[in-house]
Formats: sequence, C-alpha cells, structure tokens
Amino acid sequence: MYAPPSGEQPGSLRKSAPWKRRTTSYRAGARHGGGLRGQVRLGRRGLAIGIDIGGTKVAAGVVDAEGRILAEARRSTPGTDPRAVERVIVELVEELGRGHRIRSVGIGAAGWMDLDGGTVLFSPHLAWRNEPLRANLQRLLRRPVLLANDADAAAWAEWRFGAGKGESRLVCITLGTGIGGAMVMDGRVERGRFGVAGEFGHQVIMPGGHRCECGNRGCWEQYASGNALGREARVLARSNSPMAQDLLSAVGGHAETITGAIVTDLALAGDTASRELIEEVGEWLGLGLANLAAALDPGLFVIGGGLCSAGDLLVEPARKAFARNLTGRGFRPAAGIQLAALGPNAGLIGAADLSRVSSRVRS
Ligand SMILES: [Zn+2]
Repeated sequence: MYAPPSGEQPGSLRKSAPWKRRTTSYRAGARHGGGLRGQVRLGRRGLAIGIDIGGTKVAAGVVDAEGRILAEARRSTPGTDPRAVERVIVELVEELGRGHRIRSVGIGAAGWMDLDGGTVLFSPHLAWRNEPLRANLQRLLRRPVLLANDADAAAWAEWRFGAGKGESRLVCITLGTGIGGAMVMDGRVERGRFGVAGEFGHQVIMPGGHRCECGNRGCWEQYASGNALGREARVLARSNSPMAQDLLSAVGGHAETITGAIVTDLALAGDTASRELIEEVGEWLGLGLANLAAALDPGLFVIGGGLCSAGDLLVEPARKAFARNLTGRGFRPAAGIQLAALGPNAGLIGAADLSRVSSRVRS
C-alpha cells in the first residue's frame, strides 16, 4: 500500500525520506486478476496535486479524494528542456501548496513511462528520453511523485469519477489531433508487458491509406480524429463543391485554414456539409471500436477529447457503425459507447488521484 509519510511537512529537510524506498506505480489499487468491487484500496484521503503537461500549456490543480478540483494554476510549457519543465512543476506545486496540505503529486504527460512509473522513456512533445523524472521531482518536491501517461490518467479519472464509474473493463479513447487510448481493467490501468499499451490510434484500418506520423499508412487516427476531420473538410473546400460554401465563408475563403474545431462548430450550428464530415469520422470511429471490442471485449468505451464537443453528431454514427461491424453481433452482449464526463481536466484529476491511491508494483 502506498502511504506517504505521516507528519511530512511541505518544506521539511529530511535527509532520508522513507517513502523514497517504496516503489510506487500507477498500476494502482487493485490486486492482480481480481474483480472490481472492493479492491481499489484508497490511500489517505488527503489532497494531491495533478499536473497535466501538454505541448503548449502545463495545467495543475489541487484535487480532493472525490475528484474535485479545489484550486488551479497554469503556465505555458517552457520549451522542451527537461530542467525548465521541472522548474515549472516545482513553481506550480509551491504555488498551489501554500493554502493546502498536499500529500502527493501526480504528473500526466504524453509519452511512454517505464512500468514502475519512474522514468519517461519517450515523450513526443518534450525532450524527455529515458528521463528519470520521478526521482528528480521527488528530490525537489519532497513528496511522493507519480508519473502517468496522459491518456492513462484521463481514463483513470473517468473510471473513478466520470462516465466509466463502476465498469470492470473500460476502454477510453481520446479524440484530439490524433487518438489516445487507455484501459482500466479490474480496477487497474492496463499498460501491457512493456508499458506501451493503448496505442489504438495506430491500428491499420486502411492498408495503403493516408500516411501517419508514425511512419505507417492507413492508421485509425488518420480517419477518426480532429486532424482527419480538418483534412477531409479542406479537401471538400478545395473541390469547389457548393456543399462547402459555409465552410469556406467561415474561413474567409482560405480553405487551408480549416481545422477540425471549425468544422465541429459549424456542424453544431447546423451546417449540412460539416455534419456529414463528422458523421463520416464517427463511422470510422465505430469501425475501429468494433475491432477493439473483438480483441478486448470491454463493457464500455468512453470517448473523450476535443472532438467530443460534437456530441451525438459524432457518437450516434459511431454506435451504428460499431453495431454493424461487431464480430458475433446478434449473438453477444455489446459494449456501450458513452461520451466522457470530466472534460479537459480529466488528465489532471486522474494524475492526482493515481498519485494518491497508487500501490506497489506487481511485476
Ligand atoms: Zn500511425
């Protein structure tokens, strides 16, 4: 059981902190292989700080044991220098820690962490390569620190406090510029053998299709993401189709400036072409979810990320395509598909909560 030291004060200068010898992990809470009920062993009901490090901003918040954010602070991401990022984290913790008694700090960032959550193996937006971030930060912050992949942190938050509450096998999909994926299975974040599970966006769904940043062609995120929506809208706008009239006038005739977010706004305002474009993305989404259901058999998919502001315009076509493509349809129970409940703060809330409840590594 993960337990921060009793009586540890924010600023104390203990030479040897006993918790440093403990192994923390964000394979948190439950015993291996068990069911869900009663197995998430919550840590102390103190406060934790969650920090979500994005490509452009660092968001931090004080989170209580019920997942509520009591105070927030933000900074711009200070470039890619690991030391500069550490300094911003320390600043944010000091600022937020002034009015609150903070027991632990959880950091969520895009990238791969090693299995015990101590080292960032790779982060696409930051210059972290085999960076022993947790040790550095525990030294600077004098508190237990936990590192989590941002999609894992968001999935954990949705499972604990949001749309996935009570689900024993949950798959979360985050639709932003690409597709983020994470699983909470039997009360723990499932990260695979090497800690890099959940890269669902790179399942090849169209061999020979659009080139992906990962180097392959036809990856799911090239068809079911905000970037895919923007790309298809730009193609339509350049086609001189009368269908694209509203799209083009929304960007002053500059087709190349159309983004997924613009298309979503227009769709919500009733533009037919934008609605069709989102419907198409929703169908790709449903097809990929059917593939995932064939492999993972979850009880629920929770769909989060910026593209979710399209709501039912996206999710309804996804549900239909899912039902049409599900292996064994008609002869098996089908997973539900729901929108995420916690919005853009899910990563921050999840990182904080994971830092509070995390227990020993099992592997
Ligand atoms: Zn790819």
